[in-house]
Amino acid sequence: MSENRTELSQLGEFGLIERINSKFPISNATTLTGIGDDAAVIDSGDESLLVSTDMLLEGIHFDLSYMPLQHLGYKAVAVNVSDIAAMNGRAGQIVISLAISNRFSLEAIDALFEGVHAACKNYNVDLVGGDTSSSAAGLVISVTVLGRAPKDKIVRRSGAKANDILCVTGDLGAAYMGLQVLEREKQVFLSNPEMQPDIEKYEYIVGRQLKPEARMDIIHELRDKSCLPTAMIDISDGLASELFHLGKQSNVGVKIFEDKVPIDHTTFETAIEFKLDPITCALHGGEDYELLFTINPADYDKIKNHPDIHFIGHMHNDASQHVLITKQQTVVPLQAQGWNHFK
Ligand code: ADP
Ligand code: MG
Repeated sequence: MSENRTELSQLGEFGLIERINSKFPISNATTLTGIGDDAAVIDSGDESLLVSTDMLLEGIHFDLSYMPLQHLGYKAVAVNVSDIAAMNGRAGQIVISLAISNRFSLEAIDALFEGVHAACKNYNVDLVGGDTSSSAAGLVISVTVLGRAPKDKIVRRSGAKANDILCVTGDLGAAYMGLQVLEREKQVFLSNPEMQPDIEKYEYIVGRQLKPEARMDIIHELRDKSCLPTAMIDISDGLASELFHLGKQSNVGVKIFEDKVPIDHTTFETAIEFKLDPITCALHGGEDYELLFTINPADYDKIKNHPDIHFIGHMHNDASQHVLITKQQTVVPLQAQGWNHFK
């Protein structure tokens, strides 16, 4: 037998996905987009079907010592709807698969589904199926979402052109800093259970970690303003990593300006408190579930006054150059750290 063994960390998550992708060329004409975008696109007449799936694992994606089960249920749906939003689609249905250990009571599972229910109501999505299994250790929740969009309105990661303006919704780095606060308070609690968690002043960022929202509101507003993005992705791994996806798949370079990247003041101050650089948290934090998209400069006037859309830079011709212009006007290459689950 061969002694060859390659560690998965050598490829990383994206390397592994690329490897799987290379072995499964598409053979059905109805598969319009396969692996590599926020959702797959399946031909079904004038309206295409969008499919995406995301799995949350206890101990990897959430820690039940600070993640209430209602919030977990809500988040599991929201992060899936976010991938449909990122295709400029509308989510319609979800299916949920659960693996549950005997640590969980009926009341606990009820709480989880209360959150699922709230998200289904908020995003107008129907729960139409799933699968339930026991688990040897920990809770696993896997959601698959089905969405739709008119065929000519689907926005992929690959459509950006040089000079297109890079837009980002909301603010970045908050979910990551919220997680740092929750982790710190957990350690404080473990060393002294009498201590009450001190999270009031961090309410906004903790909320961003525990209860993210899919930006379907932005999708509706862009449609109302007849502004069709040229490319789009949701920010799950971190701004820098998503910029690399847009740049690579659109075959253009990226230029962003540090002073344009939206960072909430609580995120900023908490980053300083934790001796972290706020811009690093915004670039690499992840789990913000905001939308990153590009528009043709001709569409800029349509959305330039939107209070929750920020213009952080633009695309350019040299696909090998992804750069950040710092506040001191220094040009630094962007690094795509993202999350590597195999580290
Ligand atoms: P997102 O962050 O938008 O959820 P991912 O980074 O998880 O996207 O996945 C990128 C692409 O790779 C998607 O098209 C996804 O469907 C696909 N993908 C991820 N894991 C696998 C896998 N194990 N097998 C096939 N495709 C996968
Ligand atoms: Mg995505």
